[in-house]
Amino acid sequence: MKNSISVYVHLPFCRSRCPYCDFASHESAAIPFDDYSAAIDAEWHLRRTKAGASAPISIYIGGGTPSLWPADKLKSLIARITAPLSKDTAASLEITVEANPKDTDGPWFDELVSAGVNRFSIGVQALDDQRLHFLGRRHDRRDAEAAVTAAVRSGARSVNADLIYGTPGQRPAELTDELHALVDLGISHLSAYELTAPKGTRLSGRIRRGEVTLPDQDALATMWHLVRGVLDQRGLAPYETSNYARQGHRCRHNLHYWRGGPYIGLGAAAVGCLTDGNRGMVRYTNTGDVAGYLAAARAAHPPGRLVGLGEGSVREPLPPTVQAQERVMLGLRTTDGVWLPPVLDLLPDETRAKWGKWVADLVEEGMATTSDNGNCLKLTNTGFPLADLVAERFF
Ligand code: SF4
Repeated sequence: MKNSISVYVHLPFCRSRCPYCDFASHESAAIPFDDYSAAIDAEWHLRRTKAGASAPISIYIGGGTPSLWPADKLKSLIARITAPLSKDTAASLEITVEANPKDTDGPWFDELVSAGVNRFSIGVQALDDQRLHFLGRRHDRRDAEAAVTAAVRSGARSVNADLIYGTPGQRPAELTDELHALVDLGISHLSAYELTAPKGTRLSGRIRRGEVTLPDQDALATMWHLVRGVLDQRGLAPYETSNYARQGHRCRHNLHYWRGGPYIGLGAAAVGCLTDGNRGMVRYTNTGDVAGYLAAARAAHPPGRLVGLGEGSVREPLPPTVQAQERVMLGLRTTDGVWLPPVLDLLPDETRAKWGKWVADLVEEGMATTSDNGNCLKLTNTGFPLADLVAERFF
């Protein structure tokens, strides 16, 4: 992880807005492909100087809906990012592209693989047409199956399917069938998220008005265990509370992030987190306004400080204790757990002693275990489903 960075490219354009979504994306009839690519290129050159000698280990193109981009436009975007890298670095990258069913076909996947993409993440979300309709998705089961099949046939090293569980009235047996059907299609990775309704979304409004009721915590816990049981049986092991992979198919990009590694974010609303010289770690968020981002990237020149681009961008210095808390929060969600020494080193002496006691308490309660002479903290099967609650103790 030392001297490694990940690169995230945000393409914030969608055809329509899903009712549960609060991601930074815009409903766009026309996407400014060339201008946006040029802006990403300009920002990449700016950010690389800040990342110093660090070599990228992964590029993740997310959104939004990257599959609204024709393959040739995505290929030239990827080429702009890999152009300044050494041949060896470029060849060793994990390059992921997110895609939604219906936008994509076999040639689209094949062309991207020929450009070095070796991982696809398909927004399947469900394999039931009624549930897909409830989720406001543009595709049906047949589109989803066709997209996953085409991605697998493209020869990409790994194919992930995103799945949402916990829609109103969903029965465990339906979820079981969906999981088996996806594994049968040849996926090597699955991300399963419970449906949430963030404030301000259409779904949260429907819940507030009493039109929709989401499953309670017990039902969700049952479904979480079900997902884990079925996928375990089918050879996809959990490595994070929502992520499952066949051996050798864990997502390198996300692991780097969960381990607290530095990352560059490129694009409107993109978030990055890097060391800013001797000012410590800084998280920046670019403006979410696409026109504002394009103008800011065009005018960008290496600033003295690490900043977000555009009006309304955010620069957030991360005090060491906050870094330690975030590392514990993300690390406890992984089956590898948290490597404690560098985390404890971030804390002042008095807090370090308190954290030692909290760790001992978790072990005594059967929520966690330690290994490697107490240096590695991992949650047990009891603690793992409650990772977020456990992490709150450190805040
Ligand atoms: S496609 Fe994805 S990013 Fe776009 S609105 Fe739907 S959930 Fe949000």
